[in-house]
Amino acid sequence: MTTVTDFTPMLQQVLEEVRPLTLQGKVADYIPELGHVDRNKLGIALYLPDGGVFCAGDAHERFSIQSISKVFTLIMAYRRLGDALWQRVGREPSGTPFNSLIQLETDLGIPRNPFINAGALVVSDILCSQYVNAHLSILEFIRQISGVDDINFNTRVARSEAQHGYRNAAMANFIKSFGNLKAPVDDVLQTYFRQCSIEMSCAELVRAAQLLVHYGTTPDVSETLLTPSEVRRVTSIMLTCGTYDAAGDFAFRIGLPAKSGVGGGILAVVPGRMALCVWSPALDYHGNSLAGGRALELFSARSGFSVF
Ligand code: GLU
Repeated sequence: MTTVTDFTPMLQQVLEEVRPLTLQGKVADYIPELGHVDRNKLGIALYLPDGGVFCAGDAHERFSIQSISKVFTLIMAYRRLGDALWQRVGREPSGTPFNSLIQLETDLGIPRNPFINAGALVVSDILCSQYVNAHLSILEFIRQISGVDDINFNTRVARSEAQHGYRNAAMANFIKSFGNLKAPVDDVLQTYFRQCSIEMSCAELVRAAQLLVHYGTTPDVSETLLTPSEVRRVTSIMLTCGTYDAAGDFAFRIGLPAKSGVGGGILAVVPGRMALCVWSPALDYHGNSLAGGRALELFSARSGFSVF
């Protein structure tokens, strides 16, 4: 009989060590509704194929997944378009902030990668062309792969972002001017704001990430959703582009493909081995959760889970 290591004590220890960092950094408030979140929240969840889900802290409390949603929309668009996707969006780290417009002009409206806002808007546009109600299809897909039926949008957050999303609106219009958005700009923006407003807990996010851990299948869905090589492509983009313009530093310090969001969540995945999600709302200069990044660093060093 094989015994499964209980990782809960290690996760609890990591949270204890990073807790002082929750007092530093800044909770995102450029989307006013996000600014109300309690900076003391701190949770972590780990999924292992042969061990299930281990949790510590506020791992069951839902938060705004924000840009972590871009992993799920990328998967959906990749499934629909296959490699034709790369004609609409690149796969190079941008080295610029997530909401930057600078490169779009020289790159003729083809965003550098699907995880900066410009790239995610193109992915949302693809989903608007592929589905009658793209935002509902995104929600349905996330419910399906996580096996959790009551995951939902936070309409207040979506509305708050729509009211203050001047940069995203500028970006969408700019991309449209190059012909790389097909749907009406407002449809794309509404889809994007809604997908970002989806709320999930760390425990639910690692369950959704089982799809990547299991190379394209999940216990909750009978069909194969991605091929193993597509999974490697998605996770390689997470490694190189998933943590804003700090992706190089994340790879250096942590060595895990990861996607962060300005809600303070970071979802990390090693195909075949594990998924790990951490949440702490206060962000560093680049927009990554400060305590969350350090928690991933401590955990990967101690557990040996890394792609390197
Ligand atoms: N909805 C946010 C925005 O577009 C997402 C940013 C993020 O989490 O990186 O500004």
